Amino acid sequence: MEIKVLGASGSDIPGLHLTSFLLDKKILFDAGGVTSSLSLKEQQKIKYIFITHAHLDHIRDIPFLADNLILSGKKSQITVFSIKEVIDDIKRHLLNHRIWPDFTVIPNEKESILKLEKIKQGIPIIINGFKITGFKVNHSVPAVGYLVQKGKKSFFYTGDTGPTKKTWQSISGIKLDALIIESSFPDKMKKIAQTTGHLTPELLFEDISLINPIPKLIYITHIKPFYIKEIEKDIFKRFSFKIKILEGGEIIRL
Ligand SMILES: [Zn+2]
Ligand SMILES: [Zn+2]
Repeated sequence: MEIKVLGASGSDIPGLHLTSFLLDKKILFDAGGVTSSLSLKEQQKIKYIFITHAHLDHIRDIPFLADNLILSGKKSQITVFSIKEVIDDIKRHLLNHRIWPDFTVIPNEKESILKLEKIKQGIPIIINGFKITGFKVNHSVPAVGYLVQKGKKSFFYTGDTGPTKKTWQSISGIKLDALIIESSFPDKMKKIAQTTGHLTPELLFEDISLINPIPKLIYITHIKPFYIKEIEKDIFKRFSFKIKILEGGEIIRL
């Protein structure tokens, strides 16, 4: 498995891209920073998008990607997967013919650039040999993380989440090669993190202690760049196992 980090930033500022991870060139997890990170050729290879939740920093590039693909003239179709609440929000508030053209019926319903597919939590989808399963996580809006398995390799990507004990119980016993998890705020902003459904290094540490077995590697994403130094300090004073703060452009190989 090859996971390219297109963006891992919790804010949109020059030089940093919003959340997007590209698995084996074809499967995208969240679409915050796609069209500004990939060449048109690379964008044309994307066939599937798994969205964690409907916040703009995770769905922003779906419309621009669709626009690029239709203008490039190549016949392509991307299937966008998520839970019902998220798919409904994308259709109602983003691809609604007002904020942006509805690319689920352009050029026509059958050959549309985008196809929206609802998934159910805990029920896997099989794509290109990958088994991908959504599990609900605790955020301020309906949200899922994704367990991705192929052969003996697996990883879990949380998207945005606050403490989420139930999720860890659901995947208990699975040996994760990697966990990609957020830590948006520093420890001193624990209250804000809790009310907005995010993690601090302290909350992250408590949650990771609940995962059995502990993932081999832990990758941190969605840091608010204004607090990067404090968050780094808070992380490294607490964690002794393998942990890394992700940067846009890097590649995780499992
Ligand atoms: Zn969010
Ligand atoms: Zn976010």
